[in-house]
Amino acid sequence: MRSFVFSEMPARDGRSQARFLAGGTTLVDLMKLDVETPEQVVDLNRTEKDLGKITASEKGLRFGAMVRMAEAATHEDVRKDYPVIAQSLELAASQQVRNMASLGGNVLQRTRCSYFRDVSYKACNKRNPGSGCSALEGVNRAHAVLGTSEACISAYPGDFAQALIALDAEVETDRRTFKFSELHRPSDEPHVETILEPGELIRFITVPSGNFRRSLYLKIRDRDSYQFALTSAAVAIDLDGDAIKDARIALGGVAYRPWRAREAEEELKGKVLDEQGAAAAANAAFAEAKGYQHNAFKIETGKQTLIRALLEAKALEV
Ligand code: SF4
Repeated sequence: MRSFVFSEMPARDGRSQARFLAGGTTLVDLMKLDVETPEQVVDLNRTEKDLGKITASEKGLRFGAMVRMAEAATHEDVRKDYPVIAQSLELAASQQVRNMASLGGNVLQRTRCSYFRDVSYKACNKRNPGSGCSALEGVNRAHAVLGTSEACISAYPGDFAQALIALDAEVETDRRTFKFSELHRPSDEPHVETILEPGELIRFITVPSGNFRRSLYLKIRDRDSYQFALTSAAVAIDLDGDAIKDARIALGGVAYRPWRAREAEEELKGKVLDEQGAAAAANAAFAEAKGYQHNAFKIETGKQTLIRALLEAKALEV
């Protein structure tokens, strides 16, 4: 089978219609489970000639949306100058999946909520708008503690997206350009996951060069391979001596969408980055967190993940 995936978003009435396919690592799974039932599938692999390249220049990086995860993770310039990106990709999925999955499809991957993926559960607002949320009173250990609502408490499953937010990336579609941090929507309408309109195609993801050479991605999970994050943190910092001149932080595993921790960034600015400063930033990041029956541990684990990521980033030699 030729490769697949790039989920086009469902139309606003929630019905499945056409889907773009690139690497096949999400959409085909969901089609087998009857979660996705597209009427048409559009194979994007012929676009690889135009959308399958990585360009590195003094302005930054430009990823074609058809670039495979493995290719980006091993690219020399990415590893040298944008380590948070290489780490986020290397720590995701398995080598076989990384060889197939496209970057465009990666950022659009859908939640691993088991109630979403099992159509025998009727109540899932993301799959079945207006039906309710089985996870609210169900098994919710893997679910989110930030950005949730009564409509949906699922967690965004990816890693790469957090790195892109930490480096202030932008998305270029066939229609417009916008900040990557705007791509994913809040949880109020769970079946509408991004701001992409039906038929709109991500073509490139661009990452500006800048002062954020100190960057890293830290991922905490139940096992050390082929596992989604319980908590993760992508951090990029610019130091002036021991003090933080600027910082960008994105959290994964803990939030409904790739989560920019602006409160933590503000807490850090101008302060000395030590254990106390990192702890204050972590408290700020999770001040609005809400735990559910099985996932309240993510609040403290998420804080510790961010503290460790910040202190390890500070210690990097660049
Ligand atoms: Fe569906 Fe979201 Fe509830 Fe999971 S958490 S059952 S995806 S509405």
